[in-house]
Amino acid sequence: MERDKRIALVAHDNKKQTLVEWARYNGVLLAHHHIYATGTTGEILERELGIQVTKLQSGPLGGDQQIGAKIAEGEIDFLIFFWDPLQPQPHDPDVKALLRMAVVWNIPIACNRATADFMISSPLMDDEYDRLVPDYQGYRLRRIGIVNAAESDADTLDTEENTE
Ligand code: PGA
Repeated sequence: MERDKRIALVAHDNKKQTLVEWARYNGVLLAHHHIYATGTTGEILERELGIQVTKLQSGPLGGDQQIGAKIAEGEIDFLIFFWDPLQPQPHDPDVKALLRMAVVWNIPIACNRATADFMISSPLMDDEYDRLVPDYQGYRLRRIGIVNAAESDADTLDTEENTE
């Protein structure tokens, strides 16, 4: 991770105010980082704070998945995601998928204001950081026990021939 980090900010509707207050309070610390956000969160941040935001789709329209994809492609370093624990979301599977991607790729995630405060005030925020990316090569090369169809037919033929 470079000194200037690529930070994704996402907040569900009941948490948008909290995120705006947090971003305003930490405006100086956030200033040199590149901010990404889901559509509505991004619009509000631009309007309220006058900061530049790379806006993606609104969360329920695919924005969470876009951020998840960026994490998988190594384009997001840091996720602040104030999800709402008290209201069901139509895109709940996407929310879960985004949180999962952050864990898979060892991306720091803050899901509430206290964690976000600790993260943003870490000395590592303004420094380079060597994030360990788990080695998934073993997983990629795993044996999944699917036999090639042609081989499988040949096996069946062998067996039939052997029994004749
Ligand atoms: P929004 O999406 O910023 O477009 O409201 C947030 C979300 O629900 O993931």
